[in-house]
Amino acid sequence: MSPAGPPPPEKMMFQLSLRRRGISDQRVLRAMDSVPRDVFVESDDRDDAWRDTALGIACGQTISQPFVVAYMTERLELRDDHRVLEIGTGSGYQAAILSRLCREVVTIERFRVLADRARARLEQLDCDNVEVMLGDGFDIPAGAGQFDRIMVTAAMEQIPDALTARIEPDGLLIAPVGPHNGRQTLMLLRRTNAGLVRKELIDVRFVPALPGIAREL
Ligand code: SAH
Repeated sequence: MSPAGPPPPEKMMFQLSLRRRGISDQRVLRAMDSVPRDVFVESDDRDDAWRDTALGIACGQTISQPFVVAYMTERLELRDDHRVLEIGTGSGYQAAILSRLCREVVTIERFRVLADRARARLEQLDCDNVEVMLGDGFDIPAGAGQFDRIMVTAAMEQIPDALTARIEPDGLLIAPVGPHNGRQTLMLLRRTNAGLVRKELIDVRFVPALPGIAREL
């Protein structure tokens, strides 16, 4: 049940700007509407939570721009029965969006403090189908299994074979690929009978994917 009265203007603008930029999948728009982004930003940034912009979070990382979250989600063509892997939990916002659109989300983060905070927020929002793991997306535990969809939310210089090996037949992987401080392009990989088919999408800017669990925290 939504609260009585009209939605706040900033939330209406949020939906409008996603539509204007070409997001048309109703399930994705509904998921973006249902997850309160202000819960995932730093308390000083609450007033900016509904703007279409990336914002800084702890550990020098970022919560992605809403348009990019919606765009990547839409391109994954998610179904209710899908098992999804996210690499780069960050604030947990993208994981919350994914959780509304599939059966199960496993999300991996290399900073303990980010993983712990994201887990707490996701619990608070009853995202019961998300597992937050402290770990390294370049070294996923064998026991994590295979995935129908994989989303990487940190820039990789190339997509490792160990990661593409986790995609189920007919599965999709989306990832920003490129140098840490240069031009990065979102790549969409589909596992077909004939092998992996790659497609270049739009240029983006993400924080780098770094190997190993972070030592700081
Ligand atoms: N999806 C996040 C934003 C991601 S920012 C959100 O919705 O808020 C990228 C995140 O990837 C950072 O938190 C960074 O610490 C993490 N990261 C970078 N390299 C990683 C790796 N090898 N394994 C797991 N997480 C990684």
